[in-house]
Amino acid sequence: MVDTYRHKGLRKKLVKTIKAKGIKDPDILDAIDRIPRHLFMDSSFLEFAYQDKAFPIGSGQTISQPYTVAFQTELLEVKKGDKILEIGTGSGYQACVLVELGAKVFSIERQKKLYQKTKEFLDSIKYRVKTFYGDGYKGLKAFAPFDKIIITAGAPYVPQDLLDQLKIGGILVIPEGEGAVQVMKRIIKKSETDFETQEFGNFSFVPLLEDKAND
Ligand code: SAH
Repeated sequence: MVDTYRHKGLRKKLVKTIKAKGIKDPDILDAIDRIPRHLFMDSSFLEFAYQDKAFPIGSGQTISQPYTVAFQTELLEVKKGDKILEIGTGSGYQACVLVELGAKVFSIERQKKLYQKTKEFLDSIKYRVKTFYGDGYKGLKAFAPFDKIIITAGAPYVPQDLLDQLKIGGILVIPEGEGAVQVMKRIIKKSETDFETQEFGNFSFVPLLEDKAND
């Protein structure tokens, strides 16, 4: 694992960029400052790792844009010790941001190759994330309920299983919408049957797929 002064310097610039775009939480900015994002990509192309852009990570998937990661994380209002379920492990970067904030993170990925690769990678950099190969639409019943749930792929609708696996008072953050653009939503579970939904503008994610994973 190589993390040079050059990388650290580029990270500081990235933090400035996303701060200028409106991210305020100092703990989230610190997390982005600490995590060596270049290691989460196939090739450690400096010029891409610390631009505020999404980037391909293989298997047709992407590591989310740092601003988007920070934005979704802010909406989650993470507290130390929160038990958080992430749908769409991808590169593992978002999960590591949550770990840096003191959360216990469970993360599901439906692409087997990516799941295996990211699991090994997270072990190697010693970030403790409980990773699972499976279908995010179903959540993780055996480990429910969760304080927070974050969906990091564009979902055509809010899966009922995920709402069921959220604690009362818990927060679920989801980019919802069919097609290329989704609306970022924060859903607060007021009671078993009562949910408050807030909207936070348009984003663009790879789709949350419903068919059985076979790749
Ligand atoms: N959080 C990731 C970015 C994820 S991109 C990061 O920080 O890098 C979205 C991911 O969701 C992809 O890896 C994709 O394979 C995964 N995905 C798509 N549909 C899914 C499903 N039904 N269940 C679990 N993961 C899914």
